[in-house]
Amino acid sequence: MKIVMLGAPGAGKGTQADKIAEKYGLPHISTGDIFRKNIKEGTELGKEAKSYMDAGKLVPDELTVRLLLDRVKNDDCAKGYILDGYPRTIPQAEALDSELAKLGEKIDYAINVEVPDENIITRMSGRRACLKCGATYHLKYVPPKKDGICDECGAELVIRDDDKPETVKNRLSVYHEQTQPLIEYFENKGVLHSVDGTIDVEDVFKAIEQILD
Ligand code: ADP
Ligand code: AMP
Repeated sequence: MKIVMLGAPGAGKGTQADKIAEKYGLPHISTGDIFRKNIKEGTELGKEAKSYMDAGKLVPDELTVRLLLDRVKNDDCAKGYILDGYPRTIPQAEALDSELAKLGEKIDYAINVEVPDENIITRMSGRRACLKCGATYHLKYVPPKKDGICDECGAELVIRDDDKPETVKNRLSVYHEQTQPLIEYFENKGVLHSVDGTIDVEDVFKAIEQILD
């Protein structure tokens, strides 16, 4: 089962992808997490990605596509995967589709988590992230058991550099311009399913389970 998570930055893609990964035993692949790991480790890729990410822009397709196509060739992807934050442009979607087509495969589900822009800024200002394992929390809606500490791996939680309100505004406009057209792209492929992302985390997940079961 190959799943793509769609939705604005902060819609809850990562939160739901984690839950899907746990229930269905699929790897959760977040291109944002891969970039952040590279930035933390000071790799060439990280250095290149950082300036785009800090400005709220997309990392160029040349870098992102190669990274993702390599990642999905790993053995852990044999039974499928959940993509969170990829594709973000039509060329990224086309590149993945053409690689899959060579293997006689395709994306089975595109799950669009719908949250209006008005809710996004509040969500992002309360978001806390674990850069070690990729887990995501919210001070009010999804608090960790221990203040500032990741429940999953015990690492310190941080505010992401790109979650400042000014950057979030840029990310939202980039989303509307470059990523939102993917909703129609996947609708035309007959695999689009939309869920209301404004309700409680567990209720969003129930709606997703109904689609996947
Ligand atoms: P995305 O991966 O789409 O950028 P996240 O999964 O990181 O979004 O969620 C953004 C923020 O909103 C996080 O702080 C997360 O804990 C919180 N969040 C996610 N889903 C919900 C929800 N249904 N209700 C309230 N807050 C949520
Ligand atoms: P995310 O963790 O998904 O919110 O992504 C954080 C940032 O990483 C984005 O704002 C982009 O700068 C970059 N990024 C992540 N995935 C992609 C992608 N598929 N294409 C381009 N840039 C990406």
